[in-house]
Amino acid sequence: MRILLVEDDMQLARGLHQSLRTEGFTANHVSSANAAWLTVQTNECDMLILDLGLPDMDGMSLLKKIRQHNLRLPVLILTARDSIDDKIKGLDQGADDYLSKPFDVQELIARIRVIERRLGTATSSVVNIAGVELDASAHLVSYAGQALDLPRKEFMVLKILMEQAGRIQSREQLESKLYEWGEEVASNAIEVHIHHLRKKLPEGFIKTIRGVGYSVAKSL
Ligand code: CA
Repeated sequence: MRILLVEDDMQLARGLHQSLRTEGFTANHVSSANAAWLTVQTNECDMLILDLGLPDMDGMSLLKKIRQHNLRLPVLILTARDSIDDKIKGLDQGADDYLSKPFDVQELIARIRVIERRLGTATSSVVNIAGVELDASAHLVSYAGQALDLPRKEFMVLKILMEQAGRIQSREQLESKLYEWGEEVASNAIEVHIHHLRKKLPEGFIKTIRGVGYSVAKSL
Protein backbone atom coordinates (compact mmCIF):
# COMPACT_ATOMS: atom_id res chain seq x y z
CA MET A 1 0.00 0.00 0.00
CA ARG A 2 1.29 3.42 -0.95
CA ILE A 3 0.92 6.00 1.77
CA LEU A 4 1.27 9.74 1.42
CA LEU A 5 2.50 11.30 4.64
CA VAL A 6 1.55 14.97 5.01
CA GLU A 7 3.49 16.36 7.94
CA ASP A 8 5.52 19.56 8.37
CA ASP A 9 7.42 18.42 11.44
CA MET A 10 10.45 17.06 9.61
CA GLN A 11 11.79 15.09 12.52
CA LEU A 12 8.50 13.32 13.10
CA ALA A 13 8.08 12.80 9.36
CA ARG A 14 11.49 11.18 9.01
CA GLY A 15 10.83 8.84 11.92
CA LEU A 16 7.40 7.88 10.61
CA HIS A 17 8.69 7.40 7.09
CA GLN A 18 11.31 4.99 8.38
CA SER A 19 8.79 3.07 10.50
CA LEU A 20 6.37 2.78 7.60
CA ARG A 21 9.11 1.43 5.36
CA THR A 22 10.20 -1.05 7.99
CA GLU A 23 6.63 -2.27 8.24
CA GLY A 24 6.53 -2.95 4.52
CA PHE A 25 4.60 0.10 3.35
CA THR A 26 5.67 2.41 0.57
CA ALA A 27 5.58 5.96 1.82
CA ASN A 28 6.09 9.33 0.21
CA HIS A 29 6.30 12.53 2.19
CA VAL A 30 5.17 16.11 1.59
CA SER A 31 5.19 18.92 4.14
CA SER A 32 2.43 21.21 2.89
CA ALA A 33 -1.27 20.93 2.10
CA ASN A 34 -0.77 22.26 -1.43
CA ALA A 35 1.84 19.65 -2.25
CA ALA A 36 -0.49 16.99 -0.84
CA TRP A 37 -3.39 18.28 -2.93
CA LEU A 38 -1.30 18.13 -6.11
CA THR A 39 -0.19 14.63 -5.24
CA VAL A 40 -3.61 13.18 -4.52
CA GLN A 41 -4.86 14.53 -7.83
CA THR A 42 -2.01 13.41 -10.00
CA ASN A 43 -0.51 10.44 -8.23
CA GLU A 44 -1.85 7.15 -7.24
CA CYS A 45 -1.72 6.84 -3.50
CA ASP A 46 -3.82 4.48 -1.44
CA MET A 47 -3.99 6.39 1.78
CA LEU A 48 -3.21 9.72 3.42
CA ILE A 49 -1.73 10.31 6.85
CA LEU A 50 -2.62 13.92 7.41
CA ASP A 51 -1.32 16.32 10.03
CA LEU A 52 -3.86 19.07 10.79
CA GLY A 53 -1.43 21.86 11.61
CA LEU A 54 0.19 22.59 8.25
CA PRO A 55 1.96 25.84 7.26
CA ASP A 56 -0.18 26.75 4.22
CA MET A 57 -3.63 25.37 4.89
CA ASP A 58 -5.40 23.69 7.75
CA GLY A 59 -5.38 19.92 7.27
CA MET A 60 -9.12 19.88 7.90
CA SER A 61 -9.67 22.21 4.92
CA LEU A 62 -7.58 19.91 2.76
CA LEU A 63 -9.66 16.95 3.88
CA LYS A 64 -12.83 18.86 3.03
CA LYS A 65 -11.46 19.68 -0.42
CA ILE A 66 -10.55 16.05 -1.03
CA ARG A 67 -14.06 14.90 -0.08
CA GLN A 68 -15.70 17.65 -2.13
CA HIS A 69 -13.90 16.26 -5.13
CA ASN A 70 -15.30 12.88 -4.31
CA LEU A 71 -11.94 11.33 -3.71
CA ARG A 72 -12.57 8.23 -1.63
CA LEU A 73 -9.02 8.08 -0.42
CA PRO A 74 -8.76 6.83 3.19
CA VAL A 75 -7.46 9.56 5.47
CA LEU A 76 -5.98 9.11 8.91
CA ILE A 77 -5.62 12.38 10.80
CA LEU A 78 -2.71 13.18 13.09
CA THR A 79 -3.12 16.10 15.37
CA ALA A 80 -1.84 17.84 18.45
CA ARG A 81 -5.39 18.97 19.16
CA ASP A 82 -6.89 16.63 21.61
CA SER A 83 -10.43 17.86 22.05
CA ILE A 84 -13.44 15.65 21.40
CA ASP A 85 -14.88 18.47 19.26
CA ASP A 86 -11.94 18.34 16.90
CA LYS A 87 -12.14 14.59 16.71
CA ILE A 88 -15.83 14.67 15.84
CA LYS A 89 -15.24 17.45 13.32
CA GLY A 90 -12.51 15.41 11.65
CA LEU A 91 -14.63 12.31 11.42
CA ASP A 92 -17.57 14.39 10.17
CA GLN A 93 -15.39 15.78 7.41
CA GLY A 94 -14.76 12.25 6.25
CA ALA A 95 -11.61 11.16 8.05
CA ASP A 96 -11.39 7.41 8.46
CA ASP A 97 -9.45 7.52 11.69
CA TYR A 98 -7.82 9.89 14.09
CA LEU A 99 -4.74 9.85 16.31
CA SER A 100 -3.68 12.50 18.81
CA LYS A 101 -0.01 13.39 19.19
CA PRO A 102 2.02 12.05 20.82
CA PHE A 103 1.05 8.59 19.70
CA ASP A 104 2.67 5.21 19.65
CA VAL A 105 3.97 4.25 16.21
CA GLN A 106 2.76 0.69 16.70
CA GLU A 107 -0.76 1.99 17.24
CA LEU A 108 -0.53 4.01 14.05
CA ILE A 109 0.66 0.92 12.17
CA ALA A 110 -2.18 -1.17 13.61
CA ARG A 111 -4.74 1.41 12.50
CA ILE A 112 -3.22 1.61 9.03
CA ARG A 113 -3.58 -2.16 8.79
CA VAL A 114 -7.27 -1.92 9.67
CA ILE A 115 -7.76 0.57 6.83
CA GLU A 116 -5.66 -1.60 4.54
CA ARG A 117 -7.80 -4.66 5.28
CA ARG A 118 -10.92 -2.65 4.58
CA LEU A 119 -9.52 -1.86 1.13
CA GLY A 120 -8.47 -5.40 0.41
CA THR A 121 -10.13 -8.74 0.69
CA ALA A 122 -8.26 -10.01 3.75
CA THR A 123 -10.15 -9.95 7.03
CA SER A 124 -7.28 -10.34 9.47
CA SER A 125 -3.55 -9.67 9.50
CA VAL A 126 -2.95 -13.38 8.88
CA VAL A 127 -3.94 -14.65 5.45
CA ASN A 128 -3.77 -18.33 4.68
CA ILE A 129 -4.20 -19.57 1.13
CA ALA A 130 -3.39 -23.11 0.04
CA GLY A 131 -0.94 -23.69 2.88
CA VAL A 132 0.85 -20.39 2.39
CA GLU A 133 0.47 -18.27 5.47
CA LEU A 134 1.31 -14.59 5.49
CA ASP A 135 1.30 -12.68 8.75
CA ALA A 136 1.42 -9.00 7.82
CA SER A 137 2.00 -7.66 11.32
CA ALA A 138 4.73 -10.16 12.24
CA HIS A 139 6.25 -10.02 8.74
CA LEU A 140 6.31 -13.77 8.45
CA VAL A 141 5.54 -16.07 5.59
CA SER A 142 5.45 -19.81 5.82
CA TYR A 143 4.56 -22.61 3.48
CA ALA A 144 3.48 -25.99 4.83
CA GLY A 145 4.71 -24.87 8.25
CA GLN A 146 8.18 -23.94 7.00
CA ALA A 147 9.21 -20.31 7.36
CA LEU A 148 10.17 -18.64 4.09
CA ASP A 149 12.89 -16.05 4.02
CA LEU A 150 11.65 -13.29 1.75
CA PRO A 151 13.44 -10.01 0.99
CA ARG A 152 11.39 -6.88 1.64
CA LYS A 153 10.10 -6.31 -1.90
CA GLU A 154 9.19 -9.97 -2.42
CA PHE A 155 7.28 -9.89 0.84
CA MET A 156 5.45 -6.77 -0.34
CA VAL A 157 4.50 -8.32 -3.68
CA LEU A 158 3.20 -11.45 -2.00
CA LYS A 159 1.33 -9.41 0.59
CA ILE A 160 -0.43 -7.34 -2.08
CA LEU A 161 -1.40 -10.43 -4.07
CA MET A 162 -2.60 -12.42 -1.04
CA GLU A 163 -4.48 -9.56 0.60
CA GLN A 164 -6.19 -8.86 -2.71
CA ALA A 165 -6.67 -12.51 -3.55
CA GLY A 166 -8.98 -13.05 -6.49
CA ARG A 167 -8.10 -9.68 -7.96
CA ILE A 168 -5.59 -9.07 -10.71
CA GLN A 169 -2.72 -6.67 -10.10
CA SER A 170 -1.10 -5.18 -13.17
CA ARG A 171 2.65 -4.72 -13.30
CA GLU A 172 2.14 -0.94 -13.13
CA GLN A 173 -0.07 -1.24 -10.05
CA LEU A 174 2.49 -3.40 -8.30
CA GLU A 175 5.29 -1.02 -9.24
CA SER A 176 3.43 1.98 -7.92
CA LYS A 177 2.77 0.20 -4.63
CA LEU A 178 6.35 -1.00 -4.23
CA TYR A 179 8.50 1.91 -5.19
CA GLU A 180 8.77 5.37 -3.75
CA TRP A 181 9.30 8.57 -5.69
CA GLY A 182 12.74 8.78 -7.16
CA GLU A 183 13.49 5.17 -6.43
CA GLU A 184 15.19 3.51 -9.39
CA VAL A 185 13.01 0.77 -10.90
CA ALA A 186 14.38 -1.68 -13.42
CA SER A 187 11.88 -2.33 -16.20
CA ASN A 188 11.70 -6.00 -15.33
CA ALA A 189 11.75 -5.52 -11.53
CA ILE A 190 8.29 -6.98 -10.92
CA GLU A 191 8.95 -9.99 -13.17
CA VAL A 192 12.13 -10.67 -11.22
CA HIS A 193 10.34 -10.54 -7.85
CA ILE A 194 7.60 -12.84 -9.15
CA HIS A 195 10.20 -15.22 -10.54
CA HIS A 196 11.98 -15.47 -7.17
CA LEU A 197 8.71 -15.83 -5.29
CA ARG A 198 7.55 -18.66 -7.52
CA LYS A 199 10.65 -20.67 -6.71
CA LYS A 200 9.68 -20.54 -3.02
CA LEU A 201 5.92 -21.05 -3.34
CA PRO A 202 3.78 -23.98 -4.46
CA GLU A 203 3.44 -24.40 -8.19
CA GLY A 204 0.70 -22.31 -9.76
CA PHE A 205 0.26 -20.19 -6.62
CA ILE A 206 0.90 -16.93 -8.45
CA LYS A 207 -0.92 -16.89 -11.74
CA THR A 208 0.08 -14.81 -14.73
CA ILE A 209 -2.80 -13.35 -16.65
CA ARG A 210 -1.08 -12.67 -19.92
CA GLY A 211 -1.00 -9.01 -20.89
CA VAL A 212 -2.93 -8.06 -17.75
CA GLY A 213 -1.03 -8.93 -14.61
CA TYR A 214 -0.71 -11.33 -11.71
CA SER A 215 -3.10 -12.83 -9.24
CA VAL A 216 -3.41 -15.33 -6.40
CA ALA A 217 -6.68 -17.24 -6.34
CA LYS A 218 -8.82 -16.88 -3.20
CA SER A 219 -8.58 -20.59 -2.62
CA LEU A 220 -6.72 -23.01 -4.81
CA1 CA B 1 2.22 20.32 12.11
